[in-house]
Amino acid sequence: MPPPHNTLKPHALMQRYSLPRLLAHARRHHEDWQRAWRNPAPKDAYDTVIVGGGGHGLATAYYLAKEHGVTDVAVIERGYLGGGNTGRNTTIVRSNYLRDASTRLYDFALDLWRDLSREINFNVMFSARGVLNLGHTLQDMRDIERRVGANRLNGVDGEVLTTAEVQRLVPLMNCSPTSRYPVLGASWQPRGGVARHDAVAWGYARAADALGVDLLQQTEVVGIRVENGAVTGVETDLGFIAARRVACVVAGNSGVLARMAGLRLPIESRPLQALVSEPLKPCLDPVVMSAAVHCYISQSAKGDLVIGAGTDVYNGYGQRGSFPVLEHAVAAVCELFPAFSRVRMNRHWGGIVDICPDACPVIGPSPVRGLYFNCGWGTGGFKSTPGSGYVFADTIANERPHPLAAPFGLDRFASGALVDEHGAAAVAH
Ligand SMILES: Cc1cc2nc3c(=O)[nH]c(=O)nc-3n(C[C@H](O)[C@H](O)[C@H](O)COP(=O)(O)OP(=O)(O)OC[C@H]3O[C@@H](n4cnc5c(N)ncnc54)[C@H](O)[C@@H]3O)c2cc1C
Repeated sequence: MPPPHNTLKPHALMQRYSLPRLLAHARRHHEDWQRAWRNPAPKDAYDTVIVGGGGHGLATAYYLAKEHGVTDVAVIERGYLGGGNTGRNTTIVRSNYLRDASTRLYDFALDLWRDLSREINFNVMFSARGVLNLGHTLQDMRDIERRVGANRLNGVDGEVLTTAEVQRLVPLMNCSPTSRYPVLGASWQPRGGVARHDAVAWGYARAADALGVDLLQQTEVVGIRVENGAVTGVETDLGFIAARRVACVVAGNSGVLARMAGLRLPIESRPLQALVSEPLKPCLDPVVMSAAVHCYISQSAKGDLVIGAGTDVYNGYGQRGSFPVLEHAVAAVCELFPAFSRVRMNRHWGGIVDICPDACPVIGPSPVRGLYFNCGWGTGGFKSTPGSGYVFADTIANERPHPLAAPFGLDRFASGALVDEHGAAAVAH
């Protein structure tokens, strides 16, 4: 520990903290770091191969090993772990969806979030700072009342707030009755919040690796081998890897993987963008979302404003989006928070989200035996990461859908039992 400053004379300080000494100190304390996970050579065969090293794929691997003792598992990732949507999202976590099936699934995930840091021994910085969904029209407010009522019937926390209550929570927000879309109130979920996205991927990766899961980065799946209606393994750029079960968890690339197995999914892949500002002093506590003005915003632990935009209107696989969408999001932020119009933006980026016609995920088996899909989370899958991994692992291990996953099977597109969540999704799909 350095002594409290001003007890040493400046020249003594210089001697003690001279550049060579500082460098020597830095080197000594940054050598021989333990690897967070191994870098294994791929085996010829695994019991289960998970394609996609995002949060959902890694969580699935972790729960397969931890809850079901299935450790002969490889996670195959073409880039780096968490480099897809997991590392590109705006990290909003909530469970206030409208339909029973989705509320139960997302609320199960929210319960897991609360203890996740301890569960995987990695600080995922889950911060339950509360989530506001603003209402700007009478119809918005009716929808909010309906949704909060439905949430409460499912035991999910929720309140309908007045304009004055919203203003008390977010003093910087423009709640003037003369604004273009006046804030008439909001739904408020106090248990919602944000978490550190990279930490979620790293934490699950380290925990899965410790249980014996092989994490194969920089390895791309380029084909899926199917024989007599059953999956037998995956072709990768390093060669064939045999597997009894293959689980595809590749978000925006799900349609591409499905095509490798001769299947067609009811999924569209589109760019979704986000941006962050320069860091500011704490000024925005809860997460604020507005479907009408169309933006969602929170302040990160290091002070940046984290802002989400809408999806592009066209399909595509480039991890960037079009400028008008971004411009629209920034205009919406300035309308809600005029003070932010002078804040500079530091970075923006895009991810490819996978969108189902009913704005709900697909979790479960496919028509090919042994081939499973977990996809279609659209603009809102980060919040479900622990729950998604848990129920998907259970589905794969027991070769039947977990009860919370059952309503989200591919079969719903044949039976017509869709679970429409367009109204409760963060941004218009
Ligand atoms: C800008 C943006 C903002 C968002 N904001 C939120 C939010 O606030 N809250 C929320 O809940 N959700 C949000 N989402 C959605 C959320 O990020 C995703 O639903 C979630 O992260 C999906 O996780 P995943 O693990 O399924 O996919 P990913 O993290 O995308 O992981 C899939 C992995 O598969 C890999 N892969 C693809 N093809 C292959 C192949 N052939 N071989 C090997 N590997 C392959 C990819 O490289 C990738 O790493 C947002 C998304 C974006 C883009």
